[in-house]
Formats: sequence, structure tokens, C-alpha cells
Amino acid sequence: MGKLILVPTPIGNLEDITLRSIRILKECDLIFAEDTRVTKKLLNHLEIQKTCYPFHSHNEHKSLSNAIDKIKINSTTVLVSDAGTPGISDPGFLLVRECLANDIEIECLPGPAALIPALVASGFPCDRFVFEGFLPHKKGRQTRLKAIAEEKRTVVLYESPHRLVKCLGQIAEFMGEDKKVCVAREITKMYEEFKRGTALDVQKHYESHPPKGEIVIVIEGNNE
Ligand code: SAM
Repeated sequence: MGKLILVPTPIGNLEDITLRSIRILKECDLIFAEDTRVTKKLLNHLEIQKTCYPFHSHNEHKSLSNAIDKIKINSTTVLVSDAGTPGISDPGFLLVRECLANDIEIECLPGPAALIPALVASGFPCDRFVFEGFLPHKKGRQTRLKAIAEEKRTVVLYESPHRLVKCLGQIAEFMGEDKKVCVAREITKMYEEFKRGTALDVQKHYESHPPKGEIVIVIEGNNE
């Protein structure tokens, strides 16, 4: 029976892959990737030639049973996502759950995930925090925002650039205009930026400077 190893990949700067991750990518039998074109670019950069199969959440049932069959007959299978740690706000967790249901051993290497540098550099307490991932776009969004408004711990969200201004407006609406936030954009990339301030001020900034790229929002918890 084979095993599945989850290998985190850089969220921007290609130097952020660990030596162990490179070794495992070289030694494994095959790789499941969220987008094989994205992974091929990384493998080319690392001068690794390896068979890559897509693993995504479309046609979830078929993808899962195909993947489990391949993992069982190979010694070591790797799962990577487009960036960061597989399973964090991407379909990786479905495969982990299915492997465990099939008694397949799981290993997860430590490595990049966008939430950690955003949280730590925000300046808000990071001894306890809540990761909310992406908020739902419509149904259930207000309920989640109301729950976050009550949260004492630091809260971390993933958000798309075209929804950032709206989201900051909702944070101001549900949590108060003076709620402190930190927007971390393009972490580890050329235009990395951290904007810290009240929800209202940071919203105004991005209204006049429409953001591009990838974004993490960190929200200060309610002081006890
Ligand atoms: N698995 C990834 C991880 O470990 O962070 C997250 C995958 S999720 C589909 C993609 C989201 O992660 C982006 O929309 C953005 O919110 C966040 N993200 C990824 N890379 C980032 C970066 N370099 N800077 C800021 N946020 C990033």
C-alpha cells in the first residue's frame, strides 16, 4: 500500500521551497497537481521530470477514485496545489480524507502557506488566531461577518483583489470603522505590500489604488 505526501510549494518566491520538498518531488513515483501547467513550471525550474496528473474538485467523485487507485499501486505519491500548502483553501483535504478512509498513510511536509506570514507580520496577537479562509460570496456571508465581529482572537481571511474594497467596507459596517486590519498583498513577490490601519482608512486607500494580485486580510480580535 502506497502513501501520500503533501508537499507545500512557494506562494511567490521560488526560493521558498525546502530541500526536503525538492528531494521528495525528485524521489516520488507520481504527482497529483491542482493545475498541472502551474506545477510543470515549478518542476522545470527545479529540473525535475515527473509524471503529473490533475487533481481538482470538478468531478470530485471520479477524481478521488482515480487518485486512490493510483496511490495504492505506487509507493509514494505527492500532492501539490498551485501555491502553498495543499488542503488550505484548496481541494487537497478531500484527498486526505479519502486516503484515511482507505487506510493510506498521510504525511504533510511543513512549508509555505499565505496565512502565516500575513498573520505574523500584521502585528496583531498570533498566539491564538482563527483562519476563516474565503468568506462565502453571497449566502451565509453576513452570518460569518457577524460571528467574526464577536471574535476575540485575530482573524485571517483570504480574499480576491476585486472584492477587497467591498470586504473592507463590510468589516467597517459589521465591526466598526475603527476596527484595525492588515491587508497583506503579493506576499514574497516583487510588489509585496502590507497596509495596516483602520478598516475605513485601508478601504479608502484601496478605493483610490485598486489592488491587483493575491490578498490576505488580517483582522484584530476584540480586546477583552
Ligand atoms: N493553499 C494556499 C495556502 O497555503 O496559502 C492557499 C490557496 S487559495 C486557493 C489562494 C489564496 O491564498 C489567494 O486567493 C490569496 O488569498 C492567498 N494567497 C496565496 N498566495 C498569496 C500571496 N503570495 N500573497 C497573498 N495572498 C496569497
